[in-house]
Amino acid sequence: MPKPHPRQESLRQRHLLQEGIRKGITTPTGLIAFGRGEAFDYLLGEKTTPPAKKAIETAAARLLLASRPVISVNGNTAALCPRELIALSNELNCPLEVNLFYGPASRRKKISAFFQKRGKKILGAQKTVPLPGLSSLRANVDPNGILKADTVLVPLEDGDRTQALKKARKFVIAIDLNPLSRTARTADISIVDNVVRAIPALTRQIRKMKKQRTALQKTLNAFSNSRNLKESEQIIRKGKLS
Ligand code: ATP
Repeated sequence: MPKPHPRQESLRQRHLLQEGIRKGITTPTGLIAFGRGEAFDYLLGEKTTPPAKKAIETAAARLLLASRPVISVNGNTAALCPRELIALSNELNCPLEVNLFYGPASRRKKISAFFQKRGKKILGAQKTVPLPGLSSLRANVDPNGILKADTVLVPLEDGDRTQALKKARKFVIAIDLNPLSRTARTADISIVDNVVRAIPALTRQIRKMKKQRTALQKTLNAFSNSRNLKESEQIIRKGKLS
C-alpha cells in the first residue's frame, strides 16, 4: 500500500481482521460489526475527539480506583490490537478475559492460545459460568474473572450483554464508535473511539494518572455519560471537527 493512501489505516485494520478470520479467532459477523464501526469512525474524522479524550481520562480514573477490574476480549479486539491489550492489562495489573457472543468453545481456546503465543495467559478459555440469573442472555463468564469483577472494560460489546453486566452490578466501561448503540447508552462510561486508538490512549492516561491519584474520584464524579455521548453525536451530525 503506498504510504499516502487516504484509507491506509482503515485498510490495515481490515487486513488484520482478514488475518483473524484465517486464524479462526474472528468471525464473519465480526467483520460486519467492524464495518458499522468504520462508518462511524469516518464521520468522526478517524481521530480521538475531545469527548473521547474526556471519557478516556474518566475511564482511567475508574480503572485505577477499581478493586477488581477485568478487560474483556473478543475476536475483533484480539485481531486488531493484541499487544495494546496486553500492555493495558500489564499497566493495570488486571486480567484479560476472552468473552464471546458467537461461536463454540474452540474459538475461545484459539483466542487464548493466540495471546499465550504473545506471552500472556488470559481467562475465559476454561470453565465458564452464567452470570447469576442472566443465563438466557448468554452472558457466560470466567468464575475468577468477570464474575468477581467490580469493573469491566468491554471494547466492542453487544447491547444485551452490556445490559447483563449492568444487571449483575458491574461498573461497565465500553469502547464503541457508535454513540447511539445500546452498549454506549447502557455503559457507565462510553469511549466513542476506535479500539485501535482508545486502548493505547487509555494505557498512557493510566500511566500518567497513577502519579496523581488524589484527583481520581473528582474526575469520576464530574463525568456525565449521557452528556458526553451527546457531544460525540453532535460531532457526527454537524461535522463539527471538519
Ligand atoms: P448494540 O447492540 O450495542 O446496540 P450493535 O447491534 O450495533 O450495538 P454489534 O453489531 O454487536 O452491536 O457491535 C458492533 C459495535 O461495535 C458497533 O456499535 C460498532 O460501532 C462498534 N465497533 C466496531 N468496530 C469498532 C472498533 N474498531 N472500535 C470501536 N468500536 C467498534
